Parts: sequence; C-alpha cells; structure tokens
Amino acid sequence: MIRYHRVILSTFLVICVLCCTGARSLGQAFKWEVVKHKGAEYVTLRSIQSFYYFKSIKYGSKITLESSKVKMEVSKGSQRCRLNGVLFILSHPIIQSGGRYLMSRTDLVKLVDPVMRPTYIKNARPFTTVVVDAGHGGKDPGSRGFFLNEKEYALKMARLVRDKLQAKGYRVVMTRDSDVFISLSNRVRIANKYPGAVFVSIHFNSGNARANGIETFTISPVGVPHMGRGVKARDFNMVPGNIMDSASIALATAVHSRALLYLNDATYGNNFRIEDRGIKRARFNVLTGIRIPAILFEGGFLSNRAEAGKVHSGAYRETLANALVRAIDVYRGSVSRGR
Ligand SMILES: [Zn+2]
Repeated sequence: MIRYHRVILSTFLVICVLCCTGARSLGQAFKWEVVKHKGAEYVTLRSIQSFYYFKSIKYGSKITLESSKVKMEVSKGSQRCRLNGVLFILSHPIIQSGGRYLMSRTDLVKLVDPVMRPTYIKNARPFTTVVVDAGHGGKDPGSRGFFLNEKEYALKMARLVRDKLQAKGYRVVMTRDSDVFISLSNRVRIANKYPGAVFVSIHFNSGNARANGIETFTISPVGVPHMGRGVKARDFNMVPGNIMDSASIALATAVHSRALLYLNDATYGNNFRIEDRGIKRARFNVLTGIRIPAILFEGGFLSNRAEAGKVHSGAYRETLANALVRAIDVYRGSVSRGR
C-alpha cells in the first residue's frame, strides 16, 4: 500500500523546516523535560512540540504533532516514526511513563534534530566530491536475481548516477567501475581518502518472495545495535562512522524521501508502486569505518519476481538515478546555507 502524499513529500523537511525552528541549539536556554527510564534519558513529546514549534499534538493510537510544514507521527511502544509521511525506524520505542509520552534522547539528538534542522549540523560541509559505491562485484554476486544479479544492477546504477552527477559539475569517485571484487575494507579506505566528500553505497535487496520496497541505512549511534539484533557491549564504543552521525541521517533522509517521491509519482517517470521500508540503523563495515557522511541504499528486492522486473527495467533505474542525484543536490543545499 502506498500512503505517501506527493505534495507533502515534495516539500520535504530537508528544505522546508529551516525557516521555522529559530536559532537555538539543543543545549541552550530551552527547558527540556528530561525523564530517566531504566537508566536511559528520554524527553517528553510535549517539549519536542514546544522546541520545534509544532502547533498541535494529538494523542490516540497514533500520536501526531503537526505544524504548517511538518507532520510527525509516532505510537506508544513502537519504533516507527513518520516525518511528512516518510518512515524512520527509531533507535528506541516511544514509551509512556507517569502520563507522559517519551522519546529517547538518542532519537531526538541523532534523528529528529539533524533531519529537522540540517543547517545546525556542526561538521556537515558543502562538498563537490561524491564517492559512489556499487555493492559487491567479481566473485561476490550479491543477491541472486531472476534476470541479473545484484552486482550487475548496482554497477549499472552507479554508472548512471556518476554520469548525472558529473553533468552537474560534481567530481565522482567510483569504488569500482567494472565487475571486480573489492573488499569492504578497501571500499572504506577509498572513501576515507576524500575527507570533504559524501559516500553513497548502492545495493539491491534479497528476502522472501514477497518482501518488497526500498530502505536506507545509516550508522547506528553509540549504544544502538545493528538493525534486528540485540545490543552488544561493543555497540557502546564510538566507531569512525559516528563522527558523521548527524550528517549521515540528513543525507539518508534526502535520498530516501526523494527515491520514494520519484518512484511513486508518474510525473517523474512512472508510478512503480514502491513500498517505504524506512530509514534504518546498521553497523555494516562501510558505515562503521567511513569518516564522511555515508549511507547504504537498498533499491528494491531481487528475490521478489515483480519487483525484480521493475529493477530490470531501464526506466526504473533512470528514475532512481535522477532521484539520487536530486537528493545529493538537496542535501548539499541544506548544509550549505549560512556557511
Ligand atoms: Zn548488497
């Protein structure tokens, strides 16, 4: 089911919220209602409402905070958070305690704030270089497809994105430009050679025959596990990728929201009816080791015959490449303001 609304998505956060949230930092005069729960810090949804100037907050099975430009929807006990219709998977569920609804401080600092106010991300800088990483290659085919394997679609996509970025004046570094095997540590090494760049890794997914949709991963903040597994002691160690936590989630937001918008709206090519699986947290090597803003994008399921057919079509990849390039432009614009 496709629920996103074109008009809402097209004015997505990364470009629209900046004007209405005022010039204060999270730590300044504003009095946050902070609540300790099982040793972790949470903030009340009411103080999130005040800080970001949400006009209303409605409680029900879904809790909705709304301003003229932003709609945030969360639910008690759930890690799902929709911002202007786009799905984010929170690091911790929303909880209720003492009659108050609470969001973890990690989700406030590492998700809500950088997405709502990318101009406030201290180490996010304008850039001209993009490292484009085609997943897998050579002896590593990635997901097996009905037509081609993941490594082939990833390379086709990477080349398309490269050509379109270059046409806009970006400098592009490809981690691979042929069917060769590149280790994960080498991909990290290549990316870290370009300290002023951003890194976009392109993959296609595999699961059961019915799994479908796109998802975007960014580095798990300190204390947050890899998606779908329990917390391990080492999750509490800072990794190089954490340096760019905030910039990476802002980049992921731009990419994920643009991909959904373009793929599900005929005005950008076709309505491919692509499901939103959300922006998620992971500890993949390319996310933990890279010191520049980095995301890993999964552009559809090759294990699903219908979706594999879409990925196999040139029109789908063309539309998706346009979305990724537009997203990179939008992200650059959002971190360039006022610098
Ligand atoms: Zn892959």
